[in-house]
Amino acid sequence: MAQLYIGIDFGGTNLKIGIFNRDMDLLAKANVPSGDDLTPDTVVKLMVASSKKLLVDTDLSFENVCAVGVGCPGQMNLKEGIVLSAPNLAFKNVPLRKMLIDQFGKPSLFENDANAAAWGEFVAGSAKDVSDMVFFTLGTGIGGGIICEGKMIHGYTDEAAELGHIIVYPGGERRCGCGQYGCAEAYASANSTAARANDALEDGTASSLQDIFRGKGSVTCKDVFDHAKNGDKLATEIVDGTAETLGLLCVSMLHVTQPQRIVFAGGMIAAGNFLLDKIVEQFNKHIWTMKKESLEICFATLGEDAGIYGAAALAVDL
Ligand SMILES: [Zn+2]
Repeated sequence: MAQLYIGIDFGGTNLKIGIFNRDMDLLAKANVPSGDDLTPDTVVKLMVASSKKLLVDTDLSFENVCAVGVGCPGQMNLKEGIVLSAPNLAFKNVPLRKMLIDQFGKPSLFENDANAAAWGEFVAGSAKDVSDMVFFTLGTGIGGGIICEGKMIHGYTDEAAELGHIIVYPGGERRCGCGQYGCAEAYASANSTAARANDALEDGTASSLQDIFRGKGSVTCKDVFDHAKNGDKLATEIVDGTAETLGLLCVSMLHVTQPQRIVFAGGMIAAGNFLLDKIVEQFNKHIWTMKKESLEICFATLGEDAGIYGAAALAVDL
């Protein structure tokens, strides 16, 4: 009888659900809108109902499900199984692990969403052949995950790997969402890349982006990359600034845990080798002699599925 594992990635607006076998083959997946009621009880009930429906739709049996893993955002106490707070979800001191175990009736766990995605890339994606990796996801902010000697690093109170809040530019003018100035996230996330361009355009800097800026009132991160690829001077400067910050993060992470691979994920990696080559160039410019040839900087390969892979793989280890 096949042993099945459920991996769920809960981001707030939707639930991604994957059904896996023990070898981490993805057998079925679904993407379910989470609706307006984001209270913990409703969300967990939706996880159970949606998972059971996916199993039925694909002729798989709930009886064969061995364990359930969930990735979700927020501050958490993993040892106690509690989500302390998740601002966008109305979650406060939620005993999520117990709720999952009670409602699914199966061994269950949850994990920070960025850590779950990192674990997915580690077991089934871009870092499946190494033991040490650092993961960055470039989106609204910068999320992180660190796997060292095959183990995920959580830290004393489960708040390790907040890599977007590494201060890269002390005295930097840009304020991060965390309140601090000079965080990497305030310079190199997709949102902050667009924001840096929009500030320069607002100041009247000449650029091929000005047409979009005047028409729509703002440009996106993708606009900036598209125009940089076409050689626009401002767009190129903005992209080079983003790449320098990411290159500096790679240098710092190499000094902290000496990963074999640093993996970037998130919407910004759609820019492809144009971005990757610039990050590597900046890394090479700033690194000194420390075993730089042992590190490979690359992009994630599982895309939006990384979270469900990671959550299910963590469930396998329960
Ligand atoms: Zn910050």
